[in-house]
Amino acid sequence: GYHKVVTENRKLYNMVQDLKGNIRVYCRIRPAFNAETKNVIDYIGDDGSLVILDPSKPRKEGRKVFQFNRMFGPIATQDEVFKDTQPLIRSVMDGYNVCIFAYGQTGSGKTHTMSGPSEGSIKDVGINYLALEDLFEISSRRKDIINYDIHVQMVEIYNEQIRSCASENGLSLPDATMHSVKSTADVLHLMKLGGVNRVVSSTAINNRSSRSHSVVTVHIHGKDISGNILRSCLHLVDLAGSERVDKSEVTGDRLKEAQYINKSLSCLGDVITALAQKNSHIPYRNSKLTHLLQDSLGGHAKTLMFAHVSPEGDSFGETVGTLKFAQRVSTVELGAARANKESNEVLQLKQQIDSLKKALANKE
Ligand code: ADP
Ligand code: MG
Repeated sequence: GYHKVVTENRKLYNMVQDLKGNIRVYCRIRPAFNAETKNVIDYIGDDGSLVILDPSKPRKEGRKVFQFNRMFGPIATQDEVFKDTQPLIRSVMDGYNVCIFAYGQTGSGKTHTMSGPSEGSIKDVGINYLALEDLFEISSRRKDIINYDIHVQMVEIYNEQIRSCASENGLSLPDATMHSVKSTADVLHLMKLGGVNRVVSSTAINNRSSRSHSVVTVHIHGKDISGNILRSCLHLVDLAGSERVDKSEVTGDRLKEAQYINKSLSCLGDVITALAQKNSHIPYRNSKLTHLLQDSLGGHAKTLMFAHVSPEGDSFGETVGTLKFAQRVSTVELGAARANKESNEVLQLKQQIDSLKKALANKE
């Protein structure tokens, strides 16, 4: 009885999510640090809408409207952000591959969302830690039915080369960097190690951490009591800064870095757009990043992109660039009243979920 209702409920929930499309875009605005510059945020709607104002134009002419699946303003907490990410993350324990990206210019809050203010510390932890904590909890709750093994891998992609972060010498091949984790303490240790390695490289090369993509991969292996095997993975990606580098000002290594970043971010955009448009050819092989994530992008995999922006006027150009990129990969139509646009099929499934929920409540 109980399990059947729960399973049915989950199946229907997943169907609703599938019908809505497997690509979601959330936007997060960090707090303003510089009180001197104008704040460009005009309106943040509960429905995921965002209005910004060009600080160099009169109010009427400078309005730009965007629409995402979800908006998080400057006062949104780590827990609020996690709460809306949790169902997606949990689906990895049911065998779905999931990819979560943090996109935005350097200083817009990508690392804050994914790792928190300081790697390896419990204070204000981000999605990476909260996700693993949640997966451990699910694993322990289901331990009589499924036996889960959880491994974590941390790699960095710099100038189209993949390099391991959380290995003792920082040089081993990605294959050799699977770390078995059994508790949140293991995870913190690993993240500290990853953080240290990134700091080491950032002193060696001019602030390298913002010039590389950091990929934390959680591999899930489950075996249930009848011997069925489940395999899935969760990718948590802190992307390189998306800011455009003025080609007239940089040369040599910096120019090469910028070109690699531009190329891989636009490849990522192309892949997600192709998926959103349900194209038959998806150009995964055009960059190391999309190639690495291939199994977790498209098909039945679920993708979430966080578009990070600063509210400060002097970042307006980059903010518009980020929002346009995010809008391009989003399946949400600009300015659409989404609640009214759901198909009959979705509404019917929702009604079924409601009645199943009621049935469940009566059983408890
Ligand atoms: P990025 O990784 O995009 O370069 P960071 O995450 O390092 O940016 O954020 C830049 C600075 O802003 C950091 O000092 C970070 O702690 C702070 N910050 C970013 N987002 C928030 C937020 N939502 N709340 C409080 N501080 C934030
Ligand atoms: Mg960062």
